[in-house]
Amino acid sequence: MPTTSSNPHLPFGENKQAEWYGKDIISVKQFSRNDLEYVFGVAHEMRGMVERVGTFDLLKGKILANLFYEPSTRTSSSFTAAMERLGGSVIPINEVKYSSVSKGESLPDTIRTLECYADVIVLRHPETGSAAIAAKAAKKPVINAGDGVGEHPTQALLDAFTIMEELGRLNTLTVTMLGDLKYGRTVHSLARLLSQFSNIRLNYVSPEILKMPKEVMDEVAEKGVPQAEFSSLENVLPETDVLYVTRVQKERFEDPADYEKVKSAYVIDPEVMKAAKKEMAVLHPLPRVTEISMDFDDDPRAAYFRQMEYGLYVRMALLAMVLGKA
Ligand code: ASP
Repeated sequence: MPTTSSNPHLPFGENKQAEWYGKDIISVKQFSRNDLEYVFGVAHEMRGMVERVGTFDLLKGKILANLFYEPSTRTSSSFTAAMERLGGSVIPINEVKYSSVSKGESLPDTIRTLECYADVIVLRHPETGSAAIAAKAAKKPVINAGDGVGEHPTQALLDAFTIMEELGRLNTLTVTMLGDLKYGRTVHSLARLLSQFSNIRLNYVSPEILKMPKEVMDEVAEKGVPQAEFSSLENVLPETDVLYVTRVQKERFEDPADYEKVKSAYVIDPEVMKAAKKEMAVLHPLPRVTEISMDFDDDPRAAYFRQMEYGLYVRMALLAMVLGKA
């Protein structure tokens, strides 16, 4: 993997390499605008390498512990694929109920155990702040793969990389986030991340009980990014460059009756999308339930399946960075 400033995609060269070596990735707040450009540059290189050679030995001999306390399909398998494409190997712990955690082991103890065997730990956990607790206990890098309703930084990085690859820019965009903005951790991370770019406008469309948390809106406002809240998509869809659709997070509701009230609040289908621009992108972190009709999947603006592939390259980049190889 080239890492010098002679590569146009890697304008920061070895400084950035040293900066990220051994680091935890807990929140998008850790990433400056330069860091984001660096990640996207490395991810772009990874894409080229996968297309050319498939698998290569950048992380040969390195081991990733993939520790998932909550269900996952894409995040867990894309970290596995990322590590294996880079020549490394993976300890998969997906069914935490079959591990020592079911015997009452604390998160810090599990982390201290895994770092005896692995060089990097990817953690998904139902509690907000758990990734930071794990990182404190660990000497090896910990990557947050979703901490409850808190953050999902690697998803936001891949979302932004998707926008960059699909629309060719991260500046001058109207981004509309739709659905469960209260419990959806991916939108918390993405709103924060996009606030680093210029001429961004954020629209939040949600039912009243699923509005974007004030804490996130305050942070975004501090960056001078205009934000507006709506209950209907109609008025904002025509101006939208990126429509980011989310699933209503059933598992986070205290009262199932509340979930029933809002579960079908919005459905994106070809008819609704007639009002949108011809050149724009529809993203979704997936899994989808009913919020995007399958009838829309063949539309060129439907970027959510390509988004998963971009995620592989971003996660390859992040693993290489924290292990000192990018
Ligand atoms: N896969 C994403 C997450 O883990 C989105 C979702 O579950 O709705 O947050």
